[in-house]
This record gives sequence, structure tokens and C-alpha cells, in this order.
Amino acid sequence: MKFSIILPALLASLGLAAQAADKLPVVASFSILGDLVQQVGGDKVAVRSLVGPDGDAHVYQPSPQDGKILVGARLLVVNGIGYEGWMDRLIRASQYKAARLVASDKITAQKMGGDPAARGKLDPHAWQDPARVRQYVSNIAASLVSADPANADYYRQRADNYNNELFALEKWAAEQVAGIAPAKRRVITSHDAFGYLGRRFGIQFLAPQGMNTEAEASAREVGKLIRQAKQQGIKAVFVENISNPKLLEQISRETGGRINQGKLFSDALSGPDGPAASYLAMMRHNIGTLVAGMKQN
Ligand SMILES: [Zn+2]
Repeated sequence: MKFSIILPALLASLGLAAQAADKLPVVASFSILGDLVQQVGGDKVAVRSLVGPDGDAHVYQPSPQDGKILVGARLLVVNGIGYEGWMDRLIRASQYKAARLVASDKITAQKMGGDPAARGKLDPHAWQDPARVRQYVSNIAASLVSADPANADYYRQRADNYNNELFALEKWAAEQVAGIAPAKRRVITSHDAFGYLGRRFGIQFLAPQGMNTEAEASAREVGKLIRQAKQQGIKAVFVENISNPKLLEQISRETGGRINQGKLFSDALSGPDGPAASYLAMMRHNIGTLVAGMKQN
């Protein structure tokens, strides 16, 4: 009796293991990269993201479990530009020796503006620009091809198709923003994650917290931001999925602005049932939310 229950379960789990073994195991540092790898790799890859949905990779503390996941991978994909400060330690601790890709390889990184502590440093949030993400996708395809040459054509074709979707996204986003008068294209967010998006589509982002969520916003910086928001009539204030909304509640109170209903997804996707379960969904959600907020300025 017991046997008849256990055996099918055992066979099922062996079947799953055999299926997973056919796929190229890839680890991505965070959920947005994990989705890009999945889009290019399709059903030939098994992707794990170390920092999951709604997680904050700036302040992430890897666990021993992450080391085990990493050691089983044949390709590790990170963002680079100083984003994953904890990764080198994890690689050393787990003795990971297989292939590595810095997904932002060959892109031109922008410098941070705004926050004096970060000024002049390179901005890691390059995934907020779909044009740069096309380079990420090409880099991912090249790494998948070299890790799994038997499926080279498959990866290249999927990368081409996905990059066409990125072109369509970029065109759509530019059209949406074009409907807002340039003087109204000003937004307050909690941490300075949208520099690339702003530069690409002509939106000015102001953030009290700077590039890294680890740094506290200074009272002086917050005061400056509030004065600027009042002067320029900025009412579009947005919280992010990875940040504490408290500071923004204070800012919106003092400026007479109001926190918008929709939150922005800056450094992580939402869970599978949320509005930003993939990179493309995240970008469409963010642009739609920003445009609705800027109309109130
Ligand atoms: Zn960030």
C-alpha cells in the first residue's frame, strides 16, 4: 500500500530531475536579468535568480543556499557596473568555476547625477533603458551559445525576436511620453534608479536617496528636494517596490503632492501575479504609471 503511493512520486521526481538535467543551468544575480536569460534561453535553460521578485540587490546578503545553487550552474550572469557588491564573496565562498557573463559588457554606462555622495560614479541601473538592454540580450545570447553550442541557432533566433520586442517597447514608450509637455516631465522617486530611463525618454527624476538604497537620505538633501518640488510644481511622487515608502510620504505631505497609486518597479520584478512579472511588463507598467502621474504636475 505504502509502496504504491511512494513509487509514483519517486518516478515523477526522477522524471523531473531528468528533464532539468537536459537544460543548461544558469544563475542570474537578480530577477530582471533572470527574465532576460529566460527569454533568450527558452526551454533549453533552467534559470535561477539569487535576488528574487521585490528583492533589493543593493543590500542583499547571500546565504549558504545561494552558494549551493551557484555551484550547480554552468553560467552565471551578473549586471556589473558595481551593482552586486556581494557577488565576489559568494563566488569565492562557493568556489564557482564555470562561465561568467557581465550582462552590461560593451554598453556605455552613464554617470549618476543628483545625489552629491554618488555624483560622478557610474550608474548600475542600465536595464531601465531598452536600447541598452538590446546589448544585454546580445551578450546573453553569445554566452548561452558558447556554453551550449548545440542550440546556437535557437538562442540567436530568440535573441533577435526579443530585441524586436524591445524596439517596439521603446517606440511605444517614446510616444506615451511625447503626450506630456516637456515642463511637466518631472518625477520624484525614492532612490535614483531611473537615470537611464529619464535620459532616454526625456523625463527628469529627482530622488532623495541616491543610487544605493543602503545610504540614508540626509535631511539637507530632503529639504532641498522639497523646495525644488514646490518651486516646480512637481506632484508626481512614486514609491518603488524595493524601497520603504516613509520618506516619500513625508515629501508628498510637505510639497502638497501626492503619492501615486501605482508603484514603480526599479531593481526587481514583481511576483508572477503582479503587474511586472517580466521585463517587458515592468517597463510598460512603469511608463504607463509615470505618464499618468506626470499629467497631474
Ligand atoms: Zn537601485
